Amino acid sequence: MTVDEHVELSSYTTLGTGGPARAFARPNSAPEVDELLRWARERGLAVATVGLGSNLLVADEGVDALLLKLVGELASVSSDGDVVRAGGGAANAVVLHHARNAGLGGFEFACAIPGTVGGGVWMNGGAYGGDFAGVLERALVATKDGSGWLSPTELGLTYRHSELRHGQVVLRAELRLKPRPPDEIKAEVRELNARRKAAQPTNRRTFGSVFKNPQHELSAGRMLEACGLKGHRIGGAQISPKHANFIENADGATTADALALMAEARRRAHEQFGALLEHEVEFLGPLELPDL
Ligand SMILES: Cc1cc2nc3c(=O)[nH]c(=O)nc-3n(C[C@H](O)[C@H](O)[C@H](O)COP(=O)(O)OP(=O)(O)OC[C@H]3O[C@@H](n4cnc5c(N)ncnc54)[C@H](O)[C@@H]3O)c2cc1C
Repeated sequence: MTVDEHVELSSYTTLGTGGPARAFARPNSAPEVDELLRWARERGLAVATVGLGSNLLVADEGVDALLLKLVGELASVSSDGDVVRAGGGAANAVVLHHARNAGLGGFEFACAIPGTVGGGVWMNGGAYGGDFAGVLERALVATKDGSGWLSPTELGLTYRHSELRHGQVVLRAELRLKPRPPDEIKAEVRELNARRKAAQPTNRRTFGSVFKNPQHELSAGRMLEACGLKGHRIGGAQISPKHANFIENADGATTADALALMAEARRRAHEQFGALLEHEVEFLGPLELPDL
């Protein structure tokens, strides 16, 4: 198995920022993941997995860890009855395509979540009233001490959250879906995509929602919009002029630019609304927001 050194992670994040990973490998089977976890343990190196990087902010100075990118068998999709079996590295779009062809509905909510199944389980990704917790039967998770199947309850799935920690690798997931005619699935996906296009920036380098929605009558986006932050720019990063809970890489942004924008947004939301915004985007490497 090849382990590469100092692989730039900016090409593995949808924002297009971030420094190098100390080590990087692309396992395509569970035994290869076991081997890599052993390899990292022998060197005292932390392990993290990258999906499609659509919810990742990676430190500019890089990550002192072995990064895994699941491919091959660990990104494949099959189904049996109304259960879809997907590798942790399978893109949601591929899973949805497979489910539609198999006449299985229930995963339509994921049509606009540009990530993988592993990232979806980690984040309990969701949209339009659906989420992974609602369809996930169980996930096979590998650690340096072995692997086992975990239920949604054991994974601790709540709003955009799981109890998974780096070093735990989602190898596979089983999704229980429901029979639905492919044409109906297609029509719903078309409608959801149109809604998404009308409300959020598309064809921009972003990492999705920056902050989780707070316990407040206003969503994070509406709150930041009311703070006058739409279009606000620091360095090459800007708050989307279309939706204030998105940060775009407008022109050669760095992670430091995006982090500075996040700190400013949090500060203003706290000042104006007393809200403590919690970031939804995952940090990788030495990144921290200042205290309020
Ligand atoms: C334009 C846009 C729109 C979006 N809309 C939505 C939305 O509507 N709803 C929503 O919930 N999210 C949304 N997102 C955010 C993002 O797509 C989701 O959080 C997605 O589930 C992340 O998946 P990923 O594979 O890209 O994970 P990554 O961003 O690569 O990683 C996210 C976290 O998961 C971990 N991880 C990834 N794969 C594995 C694995 N196999 N095993 C263990 N850990 C793993 C990573 O280490 C990291 O901590 C959006 C993002 C963009 C860019």
